[in-house]
Amino acid sequence: MARDGWQGDGTQDRTGAVSCADPSGFRFADILAAHATHSGGAADDVEVARAAGLDITIVDGDEQNLKITTPGDFARAERLLMQRQEKNKESRMDIRVGSGYDVHAFTDGDHVILCGVKIPHDRKLKGHSDADVGMHALTDAIYGALADGDIGQHFPPSDPQWKGAASDIFLRHAVALAGERGYRISNVDVTLICEQPKIGPHAQAMRAALSDIMGLAVDRISVKATTSERLGFTGRSEGIASMATATLIGA
Ligand code: MG
Repeated sequence: MARDGWQGDGTQDRTGAVSCADPSGFRFADILAAHATHSGGAADDVEVARAAGLDITIVDGDEQNLKITTPGDFARAERLLMQRQEKNKESRMDIRVGSGYDVHAFTDGDHVILCGVKIPHDRKLKGHSDADVGMHALTDAIYGALADGDIGQHFPPSDPQWKGAASDIFLRHAVALAGERGYRISNVDVTLICEQPKIGPHAQAMRAALSDIMGLAVDRISVKATTSERLGFTGRSEGIASMATATLIGA
């Protein structure tokens, strides 16, 4: 902004010059007395202090320790304080990551259940529960982040009550446990590894199903897939493998 009467009319020699940032500090009684006896104007408190014979010393400052005079200064100070609070919060933040892995073999059947979605297929996955390999890996990722065992410890396969169980029971338990321990789930990422069935057309439905079960926004849930280039047991379509990670944040 152009300022009336000011001209950029040359460069000053800066030798011996310092940039001084307010605030300045005084013993209150001394600066009060200096003001009381001061006559005429002054550019600042330092001029008043000098006139009263007080010693002035320049010390190293911090640009963030700004003098608050105008409304703009208040806004700047507020921003700085908020940034500092955010930083403190982050440094205290307890972030945990867990990973899970699961495999189920194919057997005779006509559909698979993956991440809560029933997909027609020429075989099904073998397992004690509904064999939802994606949901199992995800559940284990959450238990892993909590350092609290795995799905088999919380729901022993030897226990007949889990036979044919819908796997959302396991996932709901892990999510609830995270909440009880004071964590919220920030995001999860599930990878299904198989040649068939094709996951892509069902990925959005899987994300929506997991979102419902977990009470977590869809944009925090990733479901993706890969083949293993026809290598290994997944490549030979003997079964489906799944990997998952979960990030938990301490409240
Ligand atoms: Mg399993």
